[in-house]
Amino acid sequence: MHHISTRAVHVVNDPTPPGSRPLSAPLSVPLVQSSAFAFDSADALAEAMAGPDGQYVYSRRGNPTVRALEQTLAGLEGGAGALAFASGMGAVSGVLLALLCPGDRVLAQRCLYGGTYAVLSDLAARYGIEVTYVDGDDPAEIEAAAEGTLPELLVLETIANPTGHVPDLPSLLSAARRLGITSVVDNSLASPVLCRPLELGADVVVHSTTKYLSGHSDVLGGAAVFADDGLRRRIWPRTVELGACADPFAAWLTLRGIQTLPLRMRETCANAAVLAERFAAHPEVTAVHYPWLRSHPSYDTARKVLAGGGGLLSIELAGGREAGRAFIEGVRVARLALSLGGVESLVAHPASTSHRELDARALAAAGIAPGLVRLSVGIEDVEDLWADFDSALRS
Ligand SMILES: *Cc1c(COP(=O)(O)O)cnc(C)c1O
Repeated sequence: MHHISTRAVHVVNDPTPPGSRPLSAPLSVPLVQSSAFAFDSADALAEAMAGPDGQYVYSRRGNPTVRALEQTLAGLEGGAGALAFASGMGAVSGVLLALLCPGDRVLAQRCLYGGTYAVLSDLAARYGIEVTYVDGDDPAEIEAAAEGTLPELLVLETIANPTGHVPDLPSLLSAARRLGITSVVDNSLASPVLCRPLELGADVVVHSTTKYLSGHSDVLGGAAVFADDGLRRRIWPRTVELGACADPFAAWLTLRGIQTLPLRMRETCANAAVLAERFAAHPEVTAVHYPWLRSHPSYDTARKVLAGGGGLLSIELAGGREAGRAFIEGVRVARLALSLGGVESLVAHPASTSHRELDARALAAAGIAPGLVRLSVGIEDVEDLWADFDSALRS
């Protein structure tokens, strides 16, 4: 198999039905912006409706551009198949709703993306799903939590936001596999360039492709990639019912972003590592959370599980809540926006934005201080970024 940079550039591009291959073909993936597909015969249309992999019928069920994205993502993650969604939350909700029944148990990592935490809380309140939170450092914790009713799912994230916690995926995923618990890993923050959880034993990887995979802050999207294609085919009808399908143009933009993902990821990781070191030495900064820093509690695990530290880092400011607010309003190169993973650097204040679903105790349990500022490091020149952050810290 080729290296990931080669696989990213040569995205899946095969929109032609077998037997009709032309002598020349478009180099970029054609955008098939069509909601429905026409047939000559009733039998052919009926046959096409049988499953996810036949002829295209209606774009909520499948579309050539969307399928190119799904196959590209499966190739990048080392999966057997993938489903694309309208957003990362579409993928998270789609997978959870398809796999869970009322009364099931879920084990989930304590510091979860706010949206995923909200879905699990909602499922717990309205569908009687029991959610048990685990730290995600020790497989014995999974075994202990699995006593009694066997949990249906284990939900983890490769890199937690904004603590930078990296769970020990190899040992946790093999414990889940041993116990017969289906594992779902949100790999949005690492991207398949830094980690491929399916290769470490995960059953399902979910992505907000809005983030690093697309990389240009111009499209929303999500995906689920499956180790076993049977699971993809089992979930597909549920996702057709849910209707959170990817739009062809969104899939097309995402495919274009993916071609430069390895380059962007390399630059982002290099910038973030430099900035993390400099913040750590700055008098206004009391803590830096970045898994590639030796002082981070996940450092050893991160070195084992990730190919780089990623682009997300958090700092805690000596001046607390007010200093955090002044910092995010004081930057000039970076922008104040509630996303991450794009080419431009962004700053945010989680306590008042992405994690506001968490009450004060849950916030403290998730390791989020009031003066904590989150930075999504982009691919600008690192000296311009540092000058900007240094001046915002002084202000
Ligand atoms: C952003 C994000 C999501 C949600 O994705 P959307 O595309 O915004 O719906 C899910 N998980 C993680 C880790 C994210 O960062």
